[in-house]
Amino acid sequence: MDNILGTINGNAYTIGDSLLELSYLIAALLFVYGLKMLSHPATARRGNLWAAGGMGLAMITTLLLHKNADGQGIQLMNMIIIILFIALGSVIGWIVARKVKMTAMPQLVSLYNASGGAASMLVALLEYPNAIAGDTGSILVTVLGLVIGAVAFSGSVIAWGKLDGRVGDIMKPFMTYLNLFLLLATIALSIFIIVSPNPPAELLWAIYALTALSIIYGIMFVMPIGGADMPVVISLLNALTGIAAAMAGFIYDNQAMILGGILVGAAGMILTLLMCKAMNRSLLNVIVGSFGGGAAGAGSEGDKTVKEISLSDAAVLLSYSQKVYIVPGYGLAVAQAQHLCHELDTLLSGKGVEVKYAIHPVAGRMPGHMNVLLAEADVPYDKLVEMDDANNEMPNTDVVMVIGANDVVNPAAENDPASPIYGMPIIKVLEAKNVIVMKRSMAAGYAAIPNNLFYHPKNSMLFGDAKSSLQKLVAEIKNL
Ligand code: NDP
Repeated sequence: MDNILGTINGNAYTIGDSLLELSYLIAALLFVYGLKMLSHPATARRGNLWAAGGMGLAMITTLLLHKNADGQGIQLMNMIIIILFIALGSVIGWIVARKVKMTAMPQLVSLYNASGGAASMLVALLEYPNAIAGDTGSILVTVLGLVIGAVAFSGSVIAWGKLDGRVGDIMKPFMTYLNLFLLLATIALSIFIIVSPNPPAELLWAIYALTALSIIYGIMFVMPIGGADMPVVISLLNALTGIAAAMAGFIYDNQAMILGGILVGAAGMILTLLMCKAMNRSLLNVIVGSFGGGAAGAGSEGDKTVKEISLSDAAVLLSYSQKVYIVPGYGLAVAQAQHLCHELDTLLSGKGVEVKYAIHPVAGRMPGHMNVLLAEADVPYDKLVEMDDANNEMPNTDVVMVIGANDVVNPAAENDPASPIYGMPIIKVLEAKNVIVMKRSMAAGYAAIPNNLFYHPKNSMLFGDAKSSLQKLVAEIKNL
């Protein structure tokens, strides 16, 4: 397409160029539309496809219509290499996404964050030598893309390791100072590179040092954050990946990339703030002070008797209730018992029992984990009640069934100032008339702290894997 429409900055502007810009605009609209649809489980799958379609369109039109400063399109050999690697990445992504277990989803999301960060870091590293000395604007976005991308990359790899149980929390008091030092060194070196009048070719040592420093900072910043604070960190890393991608978009002056990055960055940042609110913590507090993880906290000296409930008693209690709340947690995902949970819900509803689900914002191992899990089992969305609303209904609830949840119902968050989770809002299950906790043992949850709920006179334990317990409970209720 050589039909020249005019010139911009002395360069010819062709029909191909306008089609390319138009395709970016359409891609951007598809991202926004897709994102909007992601806000409801019923439309989320389609939303994902719309956004992926936008990305596919932007990729195809870039391959076909992009021209360099000399007006040359992408060379055939480069085109073949790009297509081969896109195909390779797609096949790997497809296989991994198909094979990953539902419980390993949070780890996969962390790996995707890591690869997004790494991609932006590499773009910045490759493009820095092409920057023009003194062009502060383009050097600024390159340095920001590099630093944010590198921190998102290494931080997400550590987050993956923590979620996968491969990396422990290292929380030493000196780390706060070390991290502050690393952060200041990263900022100082960035400023040096941005304001230096030297040509980039003479500052390659500095850009490599900055890359190493940022990678180390990413590792050290996530390392001490553990226990119940991980949801905040994961969404923050997600936001950083988006911002880094937007910077890469600025480097290439590519509107689709800028907008895609900004959308991910903004959504991630909103989620981070929501997660902070859910944990009742400020972002600075999460990043600077470490929380959870150790075996610290809770355990008042009172009566430590644990009451168990038989399946038949549980079946009777549930069947003759008027209102039952289910509190799902990470264990429900581990047991893959969401379909049985829905079956129990349908069975009880058929008997005239009102059944709802109380959703804690950090239940599970990724934001929205319980919503996704229950949507997979076709639980109607209007049965999912947010924490605050569910808490208001607790006093009128006959039975709360806690299935594989632990930290999100730990009363230490409310009544033990020494507990590392003190101040975190919880589902107030003890305000209901009866509580049944379904889990395999007395083991602690992710924050590794004891839970006095298990010893409370109102509570009864139904020990066992959630799937087999639910199977037996459903059978028991059917036989009533
Ligand atoms: P928890 O991790 O606190 O507890 C889960 C419980 O499930 C465990 O105590 C375990 O007990 C039980 N369990 C595990 N497997 C099974 C099974 N097969 N059948 C029955 N029970 C099982 O989960 P919550 O959802 O209550 O809390 C989430 C925690 O994870 C919070 O601390 C949160 O901060 C953190 N987190 C959340 C993230 C997010 O984005 N949502 C990200 C990272 C961390 P037992 O072994 O005895 O069966």
